[in-house]
Amino acid sequence: MVEKTGGHEAVVLRFPFPEVPAYGEIMEIRDGILMTRIPLPYRLDHVNIYFIRDTNGWAVVDTGIRTDEAISVWEQLFAGPLKGMTISKVIVTHLHPDHIGLAGWLCERCDAPLLTSYSSFMGSLYISLGGRESLTRHNFDFYRCHGMTDEIAGVVAIQGNEYLRRVAELPPTFQRLLQSDLLEIGTRTFRIYTGDGHAPEQVMLYCEEEKLLFAADQVLEQISPNVSVFPGEPNGDPLGHYLRSLRLMQSHMPEDVLVLPGHRRPFIGLRERCAELEAHHEERCDLIRDTCRTTPQSAAALVPVLFTRKLDAHQMSFAFTETLAHINRLVRRGEVEQLVDAEGLITYRTVTA
Ligand SMILES: [Zn+2]
Repeated sequence: MVEKTGGHEAVVLRFPFPEVPAYGEIMEIRDGILMTRIPLPYRLDHVNIYFIRDTNGWAVVDTGIRTDEAISVWEQLFAGPLKGMTISKVIVTHLHPDHIGLAGWLCERCDAPLLTSYSSFMGSLYISLGGRESLTRHNFDFYRCHGMTDEIAGVVAIQGNEYLRRVAELPPTFQRLLQSDLLEIGTRTFRIYTGDGHAPEQVMLYCEEEKLLFAADQVLEQISPNVSVFPGEPNGDPLGHYLRSLRLMQSHMPEDVLVLPGHRRPFIGLRERCAELEAHHEERCDLIRDTCRTTPQSAAALVPVLFTRKLDAHQMSFAFTETLAHINRLVRRGEVEQLVDAEGLITYRTVTA
């Protein structure tokens, strides 16, 4: 779900917890705030899980992906460091399988309610319709009209079907978390922030008093969260939404907030990291603008301009939809225009003043 940030001098972030907990172990971040990690079957091999002390047990933030390995690490935790601990709430930050995958399983196992955003809950149910023939056909046509070959479009169009295997069935009900709501967990009060771009209405929890931000995947060290156009909203502007969310965090949160992210290490340096991510995306917009200046290019032809390494089908679907996110941003800004030929093939040309 993520891509390494390239081409920049890394900004200096501070890591108050340089060691991360091993699978099946727990690390204390603050009194009443715990962290663990659950394995993922990808190059990014783990997701961070947090626990917040509640009045009647512990609230858990995120759940992991549905694999036998992840479930066995959870069982190891319940038999070991979490023994005797009650899970009071299951909070899910967003609908990606590495975060929501075991929510249904955990809610049932712990008899706990699910709290998440409306978009996470509904979006997850929507993706579960992925096997529908009309959707597969739409996805195939979408990739084809942007210049992908039949062969690659055929593989990429059914990537979403993997989701069903990796996400346990959600509980029938949930409690909605909405931007600006206050959520009390134990003695702490959290303000809900929702950020778009990486996933719709991704939930973040901010405790102003203690300068703590559960940031999910909105900001991570070293890796730039994937920002993708979703084939159901082909002209969407997720990069615009993402950049807006970065600016909001920069202006609302203090310099020294402790960021507790969905992957890799907790860090201090939110504003610097937001600025760096913004610069990273601007650089990629520049590359597209330069490439489309002389000859119009399809989105598929622009993928290797942004992603120079060889990509498998899974990586190709993310690389393609991320490339399109940059193109759609430039179209919104009036810096690039869309051309459609008689066969319906879409290309983009830089607008010259
Ligand atoms: Zn993630």
